[in-house]
Amino acid sequence: MRLLVVEDEVQLADALTEILKRNMYTVDTSYDGIEGLDNAMTGVYDGIILDIMLPGMNGIDILRNLRAEKISTPVLLLTARSEIEDKINGLDCGADDYLTKPFVTGELLARVRALTRRRGEIVNENKLAYNGLELNKNTCSIIWKGNDVKLSLKEYHIMELLISNPHQILPKERIIEKIWGYESDVEYNNIEVYISFLRKKLSVISAPVQIKTARGIGYSLE
Ligand code: CA
Repeated sequence: MRLLVVEDEVQLADALTEILKRNMYTVDTSYDGIEGLDNAMTGVYDGIILDIMLPGMNGIDILRNLRAEKISTPVLLLTARSEIEDKINGLDCGADDYLTKPFVTGELLARVRALTRRRGEIVNENKLAYNGLELNKNTCSIIWKGNDVKLSLKEYHIMELLISNPHQILPKERIIEKIWGYESDVEYNNIEVYISFLRKKLSVISAPVQIKTARGIGYSLE
């Protein structure tokens, strides 16, 4: 899952980013409102953690712009205790949740999980599953009937994307945006390599699902 953190307090922004990365999220970080809006407008994120008081453009205006452009990425607002008005305002403008600073890591992670809990069949906070095939975040592995095989971080992220959107063709472009970022210069054949690793690993554990190729477009989990 790809998240965007928009926060101008550099220490807090970096700490947040670090915590989220350790919990298997792919994270981009913006330290001001203008760059934050630019990034958010790409629509590639599964969730945005958005501070309210920001240089350039405040969080509420970013949110307003996003929703006006019909970008429905879930947003978790970060608010200071003194910003109650802004918080109400933010929820009215289409924020999904808010978190008051200072907060503890456990609460942040719980809110982020709730924020991004929309697709796929979620067994618990550390597992995603499809048709009995399980993707485990803690062990970074896929499991079928007690057989498991470890995935690399990129393989994990690609598998997460596939298992969260079964039967949907995921264009290669979309996979690149999600996993490597929209400015990356990763080429299609890099993805092909990861997909072939994943197919081998799925067959090693005799998983009853396959990654099908939609010729010239992308892949789907069937
Ligand atoms: Ca701030």
